[in-house]
Amino acid sequence: MASISLRNVVKKYGKGKQELQVIHGVNAEIADREFIVIVGPSGCGKSTLLRMVAGLEEISGGEIAIGSRVVNDLEPAERDIAMVFQNYALYPHMSVFENMAYGLKIRKMPIEEIKQRVDKAAGILELGHLLDRKPRQLSGGQRQRVAMGRAIVRQPQVFLFDEPLSNLDAKLRAQTRLEIQKLHRELGITSLFVTHDQVEAMTLAQRMIVMNAGNMEQFGTPEEVYHRPASTFVASFIGSPP
Ligand code: ADP
Ligand code: MG
Repeated sequence: MASISLRNVVKKYGKGKQELQVIHGVNAEIADREFIVIVGPSGCGKSTLLRMVAGLEEISGGEIAIGSRVVNDLEPAERDIAMVFQNYALYPHMSVFENMAYGLKIRKMPIEEIKQRVDKAAGILELGHLLDRKPRQLSGGQRQRVAMGRAIVRQPQVFLFDEPLSNLDAKLRAQTRLEIQKLHRELGITSLFVTHDQVEAMTLAQRMIVMNAGNMEQFGTPEEVYHRPASTFVASFIGSPP
C-alpha cells in the first residue's frame, strides 16, 4: 500500500511557439488507502494528471512520489500501479480466466499463484461462475468487472481510474459505483478516480480534488467542497448556491 505525493506538478505539451502549459503546479498529499476523486470539466487536465502518475506522460516540472519513492523517471511497469480506463479492451478470443491471468502469465508467475489470485479477484467481483466464458458472452457490466479483475490480480499499490463508467447506462453506472466502493472497502488500495460528473464525485470520494483549467481549486471532503467552496468556480461547479 502507498501514499501519493504531488509536489508542484507541472505539465507542458509541445515545444517552442507550440508550447502549452496544461497543469500549473499541483500540490496534494494523498494518504495510504485513501479514495480520491479528481473532478472538473472536460479539458481541465484530469487525464493528464493521472497519466503522469501512471508514467504514461512525462512530468515537465515538480515531483510525484508513490510511497517514499520519487517515480518521475520510472517506467509505468516499475511504478506498481494498475489503471482502469473507459474503453477497457478485453481479449475476445480468451476466456474470462485467461483475460485476468494474462498479465501475470507474461510476468512468468507460477500457475498456482495465478489461479489463487484470479480466484480471489473473481470472488470479490462475483465473477466466479463466469470464468470459462468469452467476453462476447458477457453483459457490459460483467465485462467492466473483468477489466477491474485484471487490475486487481496484479495486487498494485495504487489504482488509477480514468472515467471508467462513462460508457455505461445510468443503472449500470450506479451498480458499478457500488462495486468500486466494495472493492475499496475490501482491498483498501490507494485510489485516484477521475470523472467530470459531480454526482459521481460526491458519491465516491473520501476527499476530492476539484480542477479547473490546469489548477487545483480545492482539495477536501465532499462536505467541505459542497458547504465551503474555495472559489466561485467550485461554488458554481459543485458547491451549494450562495
Ligand atoms: P481532461 O481529462 O480533464 O478532459 P486532458 O488532460 O485530457 O483533460 O487535457 C488537458 C488539456 O491538455 C486540454 O487542453 C487538451 O487539449 C490538452 N492535451 C491533452 N493531451 C494532449 C497532447 N497529447 N498534446 C497536446 N495537448 C494535449
Ligand atoms: Mg480525460
